[in-house]
Amino acid sequence: MELFADIIIDISHSRLDQTFQYRVPPKLRETLEPGNVVEVPFGRGDRPRKGYVLRITEHSACPPEKLKDIRRLETGLVGAESKLTALALWMRDYYGSTTVQALRTALPFRQKAPQKQKKRVVLCLSREEGQARLAQFRAKNQTARARLLEALLDEPSLPQEIVSGSLKITAPVLRALEEQGIVRQETEQVYRTPALLRQLETEREDRAGRRPEAGHQESGGLRLNAEQQYIVDTVAAEWQRPGARCYLIHGVTGSGKTAVYLELIAAALARGQQAILLIPEISLTYQNVIRFYRRFGDRISILHSRLSQAERYDQFERARTGDIDVMIGPRSALFTPFPNLGIIIIDEEHETSYRSETVPCYDARETARKRAELEGAALVLGSATPSLEAYYEAEQGKSRLFEIRRRATGGVLPSVTTVDMRGELAAGNRSILSRSLHEKIAQRLERGQQTMLFLNRRGYAGFVSCRSCGHVIKCPHCDVSLSLHRDARLVCHYCGYEEPAARKCPSCGSPYIGGFKAGTQQIEELAAAAFPGVRVLRMDADTTRGQDGHAEILRAFGAGEADLLVGTQMIVKGHDFPRVTLVGILAADLSLNLSDYRAAERTFQLLTQAAGRAGRGDAAGEVVIQTYDPDHYAIRCAARQDYASFYRQEMEYRRLSGYPPAGGMLALHCSCEDREKLAVAAHYLAAFVRRLAQRYEAAVIGPADEAVARISDVYRMALYVKHPQPRALTAVKNMTEQYIEMNSGFREIRIHFERK
Ligand code: ADP
Ligand code: ZN
Ligand code: ZN
Repeated sequence: MELFADIIIDISHSRLDQTFQYRVPPKLRETLEPGNVVEVPFGRGDRPRKGYVLRITEHSACPPEKLKDIRRLETGLVGAESKLTALALWMRDYYGSTTVQALRTALPFRQKAPQKQKKRVVLCLSREEGQARLAQFRAKNQTARARLLEALLDEPSLPQEIVSGSLKITAPVLRALEEQGIVRQETEQVYRTPALLRQLETEREDRAGRRPEAGHQESGGLRLNAEQQYIVDTVAAEWQRPGARCYLIHGVTGSGKTAVYLELIAAALARGQQAILLIPEISLTYQNVIRFYRRFGDRISILHSRLSQAERYDQFERARTGDIDVMIGPRSALFTPFPNLGIIIIDEEHETSYRSETVPCYDARETARKRAELEGAALVLGSATPSLEAYYEAEQGKSRLFEIRRRATGGVLPSVTTVDMRGELAAGNRSILSRSLHEKIAQRLERGQQTMLFLNRRGYAGFVSCRSCGHVIKCPHCDVSLSLHRDARLVCHYCGYEEPAARKCPSCGSPYIGGFKAGTQQIEELAAAAFPGVRVLRMDADTTRGQDGHAEILRAFGAGEADLLVGTQMIVKGHDFPRVTLVGILAADLSLNLSDYRAAERTFQLLTQAAGRAGRGDAAGEVVIQTYDPDHYAIRCAARQDYASFYRQEMEYRRLSGYPPAGGMLALHCSCEDREKLAVAAHYLAAFVRRLAQRYEAAVIGPADEAVARISDVYRMALYVKHPQPRALTAVKNMTEQYIEMNSGFREIRIHFERK
């Protein structure tokens, strides 16, 4: 019986799944698997092409003698790609996408960007042979040949630029020497280097110039404390264990998790394996990456969203060919094609940026778990505020939990007070700053210490509304409120729409219209007015737009060039400023109003992380949380830095309502420019899914408008399916996918799935 393989060829062009069938030759019958990368003859002249095996069957679509044979199975370096192909196929099935979409996400594929190459001329003779030849050339007065050979006897490999440049060797001379077997030309792959890496390299050279042994001393790292060492030892002891090995490090901010990551990566490298470290893009700063660079030097590379396609591809290529062993980057770094992956570490595991918003809408944490399982690697998640999912998995025994409750430097956790802003108003204080926060900032200024003011803008801050009729000015294209900027412009943060601020209410004509909730700009102004002479820095989407705006503000604040840093959630992320002894959290409860079942979790995480910024140095830290909702458990638990208690209460809510991680949830997102068509299609889709759901006893919610029901004039609706078993949701998804594909009524509607 013959076997046939459905193969996708070349994923860089089409987005559609077009497969071609090939015969599986006898030599591959036993070994070939879906996900394998193979070489096949293709097109006119049967040119060799790379193909991805999707399916192996016993049936051919046409007479078998018309099919061509697979030429060979790619192994070795390309083997890494086979493993990633298998991962892509899992993503396709689990998250829902076409095969090509999944392959394009998980496989680094070359786009049009040409390879950058450098040519070198290399000597092929031994010294003695070379000397003999040199004498011959000189005797025959062949000066150009003699000149090159002499140079090569000094330095057996020379860049082409030098050969044709300062040595003035012409192409015919070079060719003649090549034909005589004296030299050969080599092309060397030159990788484009991301700017951050260049910056790190420069730093190292500076140090090396000053003190040659400096680099050496730093590679040693810190001496781990007992808690840290226990984690490293436990992971190392289980290194050989087959199957998935997953760990969660729940360690308070500053507990020394990064130091543990360094050791774990070193352990993987010592075994001849490679490591991937995922960190949120926003934390991918010089300050954070330098610690890894000092330890591993040019064995690391980084990825981030500002890299060009070519730079990106080059970094993956370096990983594939063994040029580097450690990749640091945001979620897409998960797909680094290392040949022998030992460990995946995900720092700040609770971050929302680990979920992709483009199809396939994968979750890097789940996908990392799958990759670790497929490749026998370890997976380590770390956070001061683990996601409910991660903690739940630990509770269920799917991963091992480590807790670090103390700061590594011995510093105490900050003391937190909550201020009820309703009381402030009642006492006649209409300012954004409570009296106690005002007083504490003044103290810090006196002592020459620094303060961070964090404005929780998750939620609608900065909106303009009418005090007479309550009308809120919204974007004409998106259902979100416009934000007021200092130059009297109203700006939409979703689509960029702008209009001048109205003087009168467009609805009732009242002149009492204006911004109520403060934005970062107003806080900056207010602070400047309240504390004469104070030096304020502001960090938000507006001030960090430029290439290095973000890094520059952090640098300046770290260098003590300001007393006060005002910012949005950007300032919350893992920056370590020892002179900050006070953190003020304004509008702590705004994010509780998000229309998302994760609102309380987000709020707890933001507040806990923000509080963790205080007192990172020797002086103790203080945190003031200002809120209109001081009794909410998310705020109370954050004030006590009590993760366990928050987890218990939040899980209760998730269990009662069947939300993840207590149960599985599948979202169907539909969008269309035509509101009517969208509503009709969503209605039909919901009816179909409800019929399906009955069979599986799944619950269906919706269809309803999305939280943001329109973006850039595209309307958006969603439908949610809940079921305790993920497998049931996969079945619902698969059948719904088929239904959508067969039904022409959905042709104008964009529909994609998301696993919650
Ligand atoms: P996290 O990643 O958990 O926030 P870090 O690894 O950044 O923590 O450590 C916080 C601080 O504690 C850093 O300044 C680090 O140098 C220091 N530190 C970490 N481990 C140790 C240790 N074993 N001994 C002394 N200091 C440590
Ligand atoms: Zn009005
Ligand atoms: Zn808009």
